[in-house]
Amino acid sequence: MILLVLLFSFQVRADVAHPSRLSTPSYYAEAFGELGTKAVGSTHPWPVGVLSIGHTNASYQNYGGQPYFHHGLDIRANAGENVYASAGGKVVNIENYAFGELYWEVAILDDEGFLWQYHHVDRKSIPAEIHAAFKNGASIAAGTLIGQVVNWPITTYGERYHHIHLNILDGQRRYVSPFMFLDPIADTVAPVIQRIGLLKNGREVRGNKVSGSYSLFAEITDLILHDKFLVPPHLLQVEIDGAPARTVWNFEMLPGGADEEAQVDKFYVSSMVCGNYTCRKPIIDLGFLGSFPTGPGTHTVRVRAWDFAGQGVAQDFQWLVE
Ligand SMILES: [Zn+2]
Repeated sequence: MILLVLLFSFQVRADVAHPSRLSTPSYYAEAFGELGTKAVGSTHPWPVGVLSIGHTNASYQNYGGQPYFHHGLDIRANAGENVYASAGGKVVNIENYAFGELYWEVAILDDEGFLWQYHHVDRKSIPAEIHAAFKNGASIAAGTLIGQVVNWPITTYGERYHHIHLNILDGQRRYVSPFMFLDPIADTVAPVIQRIGLLKNGREVRGNKVSGSYSLFAEITDLILHDKFLVPPHLLQVEIDGAPARTVWNFEMLPGGADEEAQVDKFYVSSMVCGNYTCRKPIIDLGFLGSFPTGPGTHTVRVRAWDFAGQGVAQDFQWLVE
């Protein structure tokens, strides 16, 4: 019986894409990067040959435990492919940060003070020179081999999900968008607004009439070098009754800053959203940082969404407050 329970818990654990660290690593204290003073336009090569983007930092994730923002980029690549340090810097960590061979991290502190965490590096492939640099607190040059992509055992949307999960943290340990640090990629597909609707007590209201306190939701999807890995938009704004645009959120940084779990159930509509190996529905509460008019009458919103590459989409929605 005990064995069965152990086997079951291993099974559940192995299905979790990004298990939390047990504690905050001490090397976090070395970060000092600030987005405000980051050299504009200085981007770095990607660490692997990019097949597609599996998830962005904004992606909703729920594998049965606490939901969270994905907080980094899943860069899909072939298993066994070489991983090169995008930015050079001090090797500050090599660690099995969660249970199982899938969860090895190599972390590098770049010269601007940002931490680059490369997750899902195959342990056996991490070169002796990288171990030596970590041991000695030494730096490596950009383009240095740091290991290979681990063989991911899980299939999602018809393909094995081999990937490097890349987090970038600033001096306040906040997760910032790796897109801002990496060379532009050939993303030519704009986000799509699938639908917009009314929310009451956190649930969808059918039709276009509402009263009392309420909110609006929008299901907005994007694709980056893939035809099935739906991801949310990078930037989202609403214009209510022709008023100046209000930003719902800009994913240059997570809403929770250093906490990937904070705000996720406010930004996404918990009763409608999903994000795991079999379901991706980015359904966003447009009232995340502000409310909608409660005065009786007809109201209109123009929802605007952009991907990181700057491609945008807009859609209007009209409703009646009774
Ligand atoms: Zn990931």
